[in-house]
Amino acid sequence: AKAAGRGKHCFYEQSMHSEASDRQILENDLRQALDRGELWVAYQPIVRTTGEDVCGFEALVRWNHPARGPIGPDKFIPLAEECGMIEKIGTFVLRTAVKDAATWPDPVRIAVNLSPIQFNNPNIVETISAVLNEHKLRAGRLELEITEGVFLADNSATDETFANLKALGVRLALDDFGTGYSSLGYLKKAPFDKIKIDQSFVRGAASTGSRNSAIIRAIVSLAESLGMDTTAEGVETHDDLQLIRELGVSQVQGFIFGRPGDATAAAEYASSATIE
Ligand code: C2E
Ligand code: CA
Ligand code: CA
Ligand code: CA
Repeated sequence: AKAAGRGKHCFYEQSMHSEASDRQILENDLRQALDRGELWVAYQPIVRTTGEDVCGFEALVRWNHPARGPIGPDKFIPLAEECGMIEKIGTFVLRTAVKDAATWPDPVRIAVNLSPIQFNNPNIVETISAVLNEHKLRAGRLELEITEGVFLADNSATDETFANLKALGVRLALDDFGTGYSSLGYLKKAPFDKIKIDQSFVRGAASTGSRNSAIIRAIVSLAESLGMDTTAEGVETHDDLQLIRELGVSQVQGFIFGRPGDATAAAEYASSATIE
């Protein structure tokens, strides 16, 4: 039994070790990914629930690893945040997204995810302003998607950053709403223009009983009282789309209208006012 225990211990250490070095390898690969042109930005349409006009696109970063194939942002964004690369990657996404959006018809917006680390950088407002100027994109066409992680950092400049971003004229969306611990407090604190209702309430809502509908209805009512738009994420089926419409959500994002695609696909989609 003792020998088996030792063997187990040894195996455990080995797997810990290989996990650590695997991470190290991935981290090194990520450090070079930008320079090697392995990162690119995909765009997913966000569509109005009334009429089906496209109101914008969300920029979603992609990594084509030369050996491993595509690696999802759920995996490499946290890694980038931990090892100090998120600023560089985030700025690349912002630049690329704003440049591409500048070729779309004027009211069509671009939504860019902002990591809390980027948000808390004292230069963030300056960076965003410079990128908008560089590509002549009207500030109102840029929407920044922020999670409550922004409020967790003990940063006394948070309020000021929000005020400066509002003054610049960009829009602010509270992402993944409903998944955190005290999202209501954050709505009070910051001047959001939009709430993005998390997929966990949306996907399958039409067939999972009335609880999800009740929650979505409450979020819509709250958003309306506060003068904010709502986007339901993760709409995949016609039943869910119909429910989302009935509940009064203003915009929809999900596979039913389009998966994230490249800049060419987005430009085509953006210039067609309606979709079938
Ligand atoms: P998110 O910001 O909540 O983005 C929405 C995610 O839901 C995207 O996954 C999108 O492809 C997926 N999605 C949209 N509609 C549907 C649907 O109908 N069904 C299903 N099953 N999924 C749907 P993705 O692209 O894998 O991104 C995952 C997360 O990675 C994002 O979640 C965001 O938190 C992060 N991320 C992506 N790009 C960036 C970026 O440029 N910067 C930062 N900081 N984070 C990013
Ligand atoms: Ca997002
Ligand atoms: Ca989200
Ligand atoms: Ca998410």
